[in-house]
Amino acid sequence: MMDEEMEVVCCKCRQRLVEKPVRFTYLGREFNHVMPCCPKCGQVLITEEMARGKMAQVEMMLEGK
Ligand SMILES: [Zn+2]
Repeated sequence: MMDEEMEVVCCKCRQRLVEKPVRFTYLGREFNHVMPCCPKCGQVLITEEMARGKMAQVEMMLEGK
């Protein structure tokens, strides 16, 4: 088993990613979520699994309203 919490590194810059709030638009609405970003190139890392979780949350938020 791998125990990698926030040990995520940008594959281009080899910079350790920092968590920061990222604004994105989904289904025509804006959301803010804290995501790991590269401090150098600004690349936001969204794993498929994470995206699925976030999107599921967002969809629940939308449906709940
Ligand atoms: Zn980078």
